[in-house]
Amino acid sequence: MTNHFSTQAVHAGEEKRKPYGAITTPIIQTSTYTFENTAEALDYMQRLAAKDPDVRDEYGRYGNPTQKVVERKMAALEGGERALLFASGMCAITTTMAALLSSGDHLVMVSDCYHRTREFALTFLSRWGVETTLVLVDEPTALAAAIRPTTRLIFAETPTNPYLRVIDLAQMVEIARQHSITTILDSTFATPFNLRPLEYGVDVVIHSATKYLGGHNDLLAGVVIGSGETLAPIQSARGVLGGISNPHDAYLLLRGLKTLDLRVRRQNENGQRVAQFLADHPAVRCVHYPGLPSHPDYEIARRQMTGFGGVVSFEIEGDMDKTSRFVDLLRLPYIGPTLGGVESIIEQVATLFSLDPEERYQAGIKDNLVRYALGIEDADDVIADLGQALAQI
Ligand code: PLP
Repeated sequence: MTNHFSTQAVHAGEEKRKPYGAITTPIIQTSTYTFENTAEALDYMQRLAAKDPDVRDEYGRYGNPTQKVVERKMAALEGGERALLFASGMCAITTTMAALLSSGDHLVMVSDCYHRTREFALTFLSRWGVETTLVLVDEPTALAAAIRPTTRLIFAETPTNPYLRVIDLAQMVEIARQHSITTILDSTFATPFNLRPLEYGVDVVIHSATKYLGGHNDLLAGVVIGSGETLAPIQSARGVLGGISNPHDAYLLLRGLKTLDLRVRRQNENGQRVAQFLADHPAVRCVHYPGLPSHPDYEIARRQMTGFGGVVSFEIEGDMDKTSRFVDLLRLPYIGPTLGGVESIIEQVATLFSLDPEERYQAGIKDNLVRYALGIEDADDVIADLGQALAQI
């Protein structure tokens, strides 16, 4: 019997009987795990060589008990065989690509990806002899056309930032499978509550757990989910590159995950209501939200996702200054670059993206673009706050 999502969020991966009868999983704050004697050390080495999945811990860079519980919970929530926890989302992304790509390989990346992911491909990977082709999210013909005999990976993100474009996963996987190419999806904006990429045949799912999974703006982490076979080289690379999550952040993430269902339901509701309010407001030029029928990917999102998420991007009827004035008039959200936590956060995307207008233009970032990442506050209060700021500009 498989439990429902919220039950898994609370219980999956955790032992019912924990040390001292505690209800919470403990933080094991240690760098090293010692051996009673040399026979025990030898037994450990033999189990390691036999790839025993329950092998004990040895050294903190390879694993710690708190992080392993989070990995089991995340595997259950995504419906995957295994999960690996990292120190940040970028650490998860870069370690995965470093593990799966070699010099001479070719990578196809959907261009709307998080800009640091793109930067890693276009700077580091290119220096290591891996070529990248960027394709637009809404051009499946371009995706198929970009594939070469050396293409090893397709990397995509859905929904994307900041325009919330939604990629058709069934279509992407079909193209990849025709050429035996591994697919990786950054599903940070969706969360496993709103989207289950493995069910569409995606090979590797990645999250910045810093966002919705942690949910409280108090930790950095990343997670990779997939089959044991696909994840084995990524786990080895993590041990070499050293990007494991520390026990304390793993604990905070474990606590955050228990309320994921409740938080994302509320964020979905808030996103839909705020998007609708903004779409009807004359001071707003347009709204980018996959839950609105006006969004170019509305039909794909409706088919593929359980909810449309808590991020709403929109364009103010006005220029850079007017948009800045609007953001500064808001009383409720914090101004900042993240999303997914209980507190609402807003950013005028251009201000935090680059000081160079040409660079912003190249990346499609308009001066009047605002990204509102909704928290779990009451939507009536969020809308009243937006209303007062819009009325003043
Ligand atoms: N992927 C997406 C979609 C993101 O928005 C971010 C961060 O903003 C990352 C990955 C990187 O995650 P982290 O900041 O945890 O390294």
